[in-house]
Amino acid sequence: MGRRKRELPFFEKVEIIDAGAEGKAVAKVDEQVVFVPFVAPGDVVDIKIKKKRKNYMSGVATNFYQHSDLRVEPRCEHFGMCGGCKWQHMDYKHQLFYKHKQVKDNLERLGRFDMPEMEPMLGSEKEYYYRNKLEYTFSNKRWLTDFSKDVKFEDRDMNGLGFHMPGMFDRILDINECYLQDAPSNDIRLAFRKYAMEDNLEFYDIKNWSGFLRNILIRTASTGDLMVILVVNYNDEEKIFSLLDKIDRDFPQITSLMYVVNLKKNAIITDLNIKLYKGNPYIMEEMEGLKFKVGPVSFYQTNSQQAYELYKIVREYAALTGNETVYDLYTGTGTIANFIARDSKKVIGVEYVEEAIEDAKENSKLNNIGNCEFYAGDLAEVLDDSFVKKVGSPDVIITDPPRAGMHPLVVKQIIKTAPERIVYVSCNPATQARDVTVLSETYEVKKIQPVDMFPHTHHVENVMLLVKK
Ligand code: SAH
Repeated sequence: MGRRKRELPFFEKVEIIDAGAEGKAVAKVDEQVVFVPFVAPGDVVDIKIKKKRKNYMSGVATNFYQHSDLRVEPRCEHFGMCGGCKWQHMDYKHQLFYKHKQVKDNLERLGRFDMPEMEPMLGSEKEYYYRNKLEYTFSNKRWLTDFSKDVKFEDRDMNGLGFHMPGMFDRILDINECYLQDAPSNDIRLAFRKYAMEDNLEFYDIKNWSGFLRNILIRTASTGDLMVILVVNYNDEEKIFSLLDKIDRDFPQITSLMYVVNLKKNAIITDLNIKLYKGNPYIMEEMEGLKFKVGPVSFYQTNSQQAYELYKIVREYAALTGNETVYDLYTGTGTIANFIARDSKKVIGVEYVEEAIEDAKENSKLNNIGNCEFYAGDLAEVLDDSFVKKVGSPDVIITDPPRAGMHPLVVKQIIKTAPERIVYVSCNPATQARDVTVLSETYEVKKIQPVDMFPHTHHVENVMLLVKK
C-alpha cells in the first residue's frame, strides 16, 4: 500500500507582503512564512499549499482578489512557466527596491558589524537583451502548453527546444521568443528547430540518454562577434555537417561555429574537445579599449555592459594610485586583474580553474599588460605565508568568490596579510555577511553598493569596501 498523502492546507484572501528568496514572493499566515511564485507584494490571493516544512510553506496562487500596484504586464509570452525571468510582472523600479531590501535584510540579519548607509541599487541600463550567453536544450518531452481537444494526444509533436521547466530535470519548455539575448539569437534557435524537424533528427531523451541533438549554446559580444556551439549525443559527421551547413548559410554573421560530441550522461562540455566548424575558435569582447578573448568554455560575466559598471565601482573602491600591489582573488579569466592593471604596480590573480588562468595570461599578453601574474590553485591552499612572501604583500585585496563565499582559511589569511583596503564583490549577501563579520575584527565597512546584473530575476551582486581600522 502506498503512503497516504497528507492533506495540505488552503488559505483564503492572503496579502503578499514581500518579494525575495529564490524569486518568490512572501506571505505570512499564522506567523509562518509562505513562498509563492509569480505574485507581487500588494496582491491579495488564495494560496494552495504544495509543500509544508517545519519553518516555511510554499504554494501557488489560485485566485486573485486584488492586484498589486507594482504590477506591469509581463513582456514575455512564456512568463508564468519559464524559470528564467520570474519578476517580469513587477515594474523594474520596484524590482530594484526589493533587491536592495534583500541585500540589506541579509547583511543586517546575518552580519555582526557596523554598517554605513547603503548606496541605492545600481540598475542595469538594459532591462532586456542583456545576456551574452544562453544555452538551449533539445528534448523529446516538451512541456505541453496547448490543450486543444482537436489534436489527439498521440498526434502531438513532443519535440521542444528551450529551457528547463523549473524544478523538472526532464521537461523542456519550447521557447518561441526570448528577450534575454540580442538578435539573431531567437532566429538561430528557431532555425535549428526547423531544420531538425525537417530532417527528422532525434531530440534528446534525457531519461534514456538517447537521441541525437542535445544543446545549442549562443554567445554574443559587444564587438559583434557571435559564437554558436552545437552539442550532439554521438558522432555522425554527415548529420552534424548537414545541419551546420544550413545554419552557416542562413546566418553569415556567425563568426565562430563549433560543435561537440558529448557521449556522457551529464551535460558538462568543459572537459570535452569542442571542434571548430567554421570561423574562429573564440569571440572577442572589448572593455575600455581592452580586448578579451573568450573561448567556447571561458568564463565571462554574462551581462557585459553591467559588468563594466561593476568593475568601475571595484576600481573606484580600490582607489589605486599606481603604486599598489593588488590581489585579485577568484579572478576567473582575469578580467578584473587586467582591467585594473594600468592603475596598479602589480596585480596577482588566483583562481582554481587552470584553463581560466591560461585565458587570463593570454588576455594580459593580448593587451600588452606586463604587470599581472596569475596562479592556478584552490585559494584555501594557495594563499599562505610563503605565497605572500613570494609574490609580495598586498596593499589592496579584491575578492569575488562564488555563492559559497570564502573559505575560513582564506578569510584568516586576508586578515593576516592586512591590506589597507578590501573590495569584496559577492553574488550572495548571506555568505558575504558571514565573511565580513570575521573581517570586521580589524576592518571597518566603509561603503556598500548593490548592483543588479540580472533584471527580472532575484539575483543580486553586492560590492563592499572595507578599510583597515
Ligand atoms: N572575478 C571574475 C569572476 C569570478 S567568479 C570576473 O569578474 O570575471 C568566481 C570564480 O571563483 C570562478 O571562476 C571559480 O572558478 C573560482 N573559484 C571558486 N572556488 C575557488 C577556490 N576555492 N579557489 C580558487 N578559485 C575558486
